[in-house]
Amino acid sequence: MSAPAHPGATTRGVVYRDLLEQFRSAEILSAELDARLLMAAATQVDEVALIADPDQLVEVRHLDVLRGYVRRRLSGEPVSRILGHREFWGLPFSLNRATLDPRADSETLVEAVLAHVTGRNASLQILDLGTGTGCLLLALLSELPNAHGRGIDCSADAVEAAAGNALRLGLADRATFSVGDWGDGLEGPFDLLVSNPPYIPSADIAGLSKEVRAHDPMAALDGGDDGLTAYRHIARDTQRLLGPDGAAYWELGIGQSEDVSGIASDAGLEVCGLHADLGGVPRVLGVKRRI
Ligand code: GLN
Repeated sequence: MSAPAHPGATTRGVVYRDLLEQFRSAEILSAELDARLLMAAATQVDEVALIADPDQLVEVRHLDVLRGYVRRRLSGEPVSRILGHREFWGLPFSLNRATLDPRADSETLVEAVLAHVTGRNASLQILDLGTGTGCLLLALLSELPNAHGRGIDCSADAVEAAAGNALRLGLADRATFSVGDWGDGLEGPFDLLVSNPPYIPSADIAGLSKEVRAHDPMAALDGGDDGLTAYRHIARDTQRLLGPDGAAYWELGIGQSEDVSGIASDAGLEVCGLHADLGGVPRVLGVKRRI
């Protein structure tokens, strides 16, 4: 009997089906997508080529890489953490341990801002408090060619990630990132202020999925006892830093719209919009200064 031509080798189709089975038995909701993303990264082919040629053999060294990825995924690590990047607003963002994994829900905020801006060519100054990967600010700058922005984060590692993302996206000449405590020490006026602050009440953190709880940075999740601590700070910053015609857009946690509207009012701001995400959850509050 002759030895197989490629000992240990197997086809893309076989590997894919095996992954699907493992992910489905582990009740991973995005089994197909996760299997494709991890296979594409491990085999260094794009996803389309992967599907187009299921009989192609997968090299043993790629299988080894894939096995490592699959072990991590099955232990609850999200694909974006394993691969170190995530797409947001159609743009690639690198992550690190200090950055929240950008969520599709946050695209609602980008949409709300763009709907508010009249004329994409306006020269606007944008401030992003708690910038993380820089995804909100950089998505906006990618759509507003004459806008400039500042991103602030309490973590130097997050600032480094955001600056790297700006560079790779070709937006570094219009974005600066620095470490700070929300808006402390900054001077306005800004035309737009955006923020996706930590908003999960501390007691609810333990009930989050492992993907979130064990892999997103606590500083980006934990909003204090009532989940609203950051909004109180950001509301004061907004009142101080927003120009008279400016507008601010804050992401909200589920069920927080009334409380956060109250915080805005107490800080002298006026609520000017509430935007739901794709799931129908009121996700973004628009506010401006009360003139
Ligand atoms: N949207 C995240 C979640 O619900 C939380 C991010 C945040 O607190 N800003 O998992």
